[in-house]
Amino acid sequence: MSILVWIEQNDGKAVSNCWELLAKAKELAAELGTAAAALLIGDDVTGLVQQAFAYGAEAVYAAVDSSLSNYRFQSYATVAEQAVEAIGATAFLTNASIRGGVLAATVACRQQAGIAANATDLRVEDGKLVATRTIYSGNIWADIHFETPLVVASIRPRSFPLPAPGDASGTAQMLDIALHEDDIRQKIIDFRAADSSEISLTDAHIIVSGGRGVAADPEKGFALVSELAQTLGAALGASRAAVDAGYIPYKHQVGQTGKTVKPDLYIACGISGAIQHLAGMGNSKIIVAINKDPDAPIFERAQYGIVDDLFKVAPALTAEFRKRLN
Ligand SMILES: Cc1cc2nc3c(=O)[nH]c(=O)nc-3n(C[C@H](O)[C@H](O)[C@H](O)COP(=O)(O)OP(=O)(O)OC[C@H]3O[C@@H](n4cnc5c(N)ncnc54)[C@H](O)[C@@H]3O)c2cc1C
Repeated sequence: MSILVWIEQNDGKAVSNCWELLAKAKELAAELGTAAAALLIGDDVTGLVQQAFAYGAEAVYAAVDSSLSNYRFQSYATVAEQAVEAIGATAFLTNASIRGGVLAATVACRQQAGIAANATDLRVEDGKLVATRTIYSGNIWADIHFETPLVVASIRPRSFPLPAPGDASGTAQMLDIALHEDDIRQKIIDFRAADSSEISLTDAHIIVSGGRGVAADPEKGFALVSELAQTLGAALGASRAAVDAGYIPYKHQVGQTGKTVKPDLYIACGISGAIQHLAGMGNSKIIVAINKDPDAPIFERAQYGIVDDLFKVAPALTAEFRKRLN
């Protein structure tokens, strides 16, 4: 019996959200009288073993094979499923990235386990895990109780604080996984990394987003929004209206059908605050809205509001931040 956490990694570097999840798993495991364990999958994951101990794993299980060098959900799900069975895990947790979400769903389906997808919290109630997730575009918080022996959940990034790594040790074990390349139908033909200088929306502590409010001159508007983001070391976000209008690529979209984010600071420029946008950023710590319309719904959620033209406000903020940050 243990809580098994999949540590998503790229080129041997862990996605940091997984450490916050592992630390939370340790806390929950202590309440349940069990242990937290980490699952590493890849072709070279040795660098992550010590880190997994430091963030709360009592045991680290590693599946290492050249066929696992890149994430393919079919092979990773097979490994995860075999690991869950071999370890006798009673909970399998992933971060709610695209990969983590698919992995959790596949393991849950194959194991006939109850799943909480995109959960934002986990707690112990009457000796059992209970997950919380939002439904109806973030309007209702639902508690998910599980009836199955195995609990599966994918957890939204930044749901828990990232603790400082401890000075811990534990047991590391290689998993003997039955996997053959011929059985994996997904083949990776080419691999192209995204622009590595770009700050990831889901990891960002500050996000500056632009909406249809830039419509008078979209190119200039997004250049101003992007300049403000760069000055603050922030990620660049957008509303769906801006994406649909072709002002900015989909990867920047925040909201129900885009990314879910939880930065310390979210600056919304020319975004009305539709419920579907709020579903993706409503949990941000501080929201600042810049909008010409004093009745825009975004002001009901924002702690700070500037009622004015973003073409005027965004460059003024950039200039002021530059002065103060340099
Ligand atoms: C199923 C479904 C899923 C959806 N998913 C998403 C999603 O993931 N993300 C998302 O964002 N939306 C989503 N939407 C769309 C959502 O309903 C809204 O249409 C969208 O969020 C509106 O984007 P916006 O605020 O940029 O545009 P608008 O609603 O048009 O708002 C533009 C705002 O800019 C202000 N403005 C105009 N000019 C200026 C200026 N010069 N300076 C300052 N302010 C100015 C206006 O006052 C207005 O408030 C979804 C809709 C559906 C039905």
